[in-house]
Formats: sequence, structure tokens, C-alpha cells
Amino acid sequence: MADVKTVILATNNAHKVSEISNALDFPGWEFKTLREMGIESDPDEDADTFLGNARIKALAAHRASGGLAALADDSGLVVDALDGAPGVYSSRFAGEDATDEDNNNKLLADLEGVPDEERTARFVCTLYFIDEDEREVVAQGKVEGRIGHEPQGEGGFGYDPLFWPDVFDGECTLAEVPQERKNEVSHRGNALRTMRFKIEVAEARKEGGLHQR
Ligand code: IMP
Repeated sequence: MADVKTVILATNNAHKVSEISNALDFPGWEFKTLREMGIESDPDEDADTFLGNARIKALAAHRASGGLAALADDSGLVVDALDGAPGVYSSRFAGEDATDEDNNNKLLADLEGVPDEERTARFVCTLYFIDEDEREVVAQGKVEGRIGHEPQGEGGFGYDPLFWPDVFDGECTLAEVPQERKNEVSHRGNALRTMRFKIEVAEARKEGGLHQR
């Protein structure tokens, strides 16, 4: 039987688990959440960058598992007119126990009076992978768009109902498209595609070099 490589996912979010395991479906790789492995790891995410926080989570899971490969992500919304806020504070923009609705209301209040052309923003996702041999691979993805004036759409989560991606030409918010369509354009989808490519390159190099067609 082929060797199985276990990769710990430093998240218990079921949606992220399926998106990540579908995007990185390398032969022999199996993804396990911290909970599935019975591992306790809940480090303070106190870095001031997405990369810093993804690294904290991945390294904590790697160490807590006794050195297994581990993957973590960190993501958020960066709004130009707010000097990059909410950024790494996206999930707790309106306070520690804020709901998505609280955060969206605060975002709209903070952008009150800001004209459309200055409501530019992007979702950012950073993925951090550490292998059993301590090799590290980082990938970042973005999706550019604008913040609307009121929520629109029932799908997605977080700031999706306020986010109008440029790639949809101002036709709809991220909360109005099916999940598969969101994955094709989203920051997390883009970061995962880059991560897949970088891991493939790293594996090919290990096995004796990249071959060009
Ligand atoms: P986390 O990386 O899952 O902790 O996400 C941080 C926060 O960023 C979330 O709680 C949301 O507020 C926001 N966020 C991240 N990704 C998305 C997305 O795809 N849509 C909407 N909000 C998002």
C-alpha cells in the first residue's frame, strides 16, 4: 500500500477543511483536523500580519502533533479608506464576541460618507504549510473589490454581503454566488491554487528536477 502522509489542518472549520482537502488532493495525502487527531492547540493569534498569524497556527499544530506536516490559513478584509482595517482584526472588528452582522454594521458606519470610488478593498488569505522535514511553503491570494452601502445576498459568511468583487464587474456581491463560483475567484481559492503549484514544484525538485514540456 502507498505511504499515507497525514497533514494536520490547524482549523476546525468544516467548510475550510473540505475546500483545502479538495484543492490539495495529492495522492497519499490525508488531512486531519486538530479535533480529529485529539490535539489541543489554541495559540494566541497576536501577530500583526496574516502571514504572522498563519505561521503561529501552523507551527503550534506541527509541534503539538510531534512534528507532523501542518497547514494553517489566516484571512481578512483590507479596506483602503480605513488604512487597511479591519485587517487581522476582521473577525472581531466590532468587539471580541462580534457577530458577522455587528462587523458589517461597523464597517458601514466607518465608511459613512465615503464615495464609491474610494470604497476599494480586498480580501486576503495567507496559507502557511510546514512539512515533516520543517520545509515551509507560503502562499497568498487576494480578491479585489468594493464595499457596498447595504448588505446584499444570503450566501457566504462574514463580509461577503458587502463585498462587490471587480471580477464580477459590479454585478453582484460574494454573498450572491454559489460556493463553487466563489472558490474560483476568492482569496482562499487563489491562495490554495498557488500553494498547490508551489508544493508540486517543491516535490518535483526533490525527485530530481522540474521537467518542461
Ligand atoms: P479567519 O481567517 O477564518 O479567521 O477569518 C477572519 C475573518 O475575516 C472572518 O471572520 C471574516 O470576518 C473575514 N473573512 C475571511 N474570509 C472571508 C470571506 O471569504 N468572506 C467574508 N469574510 C471573510
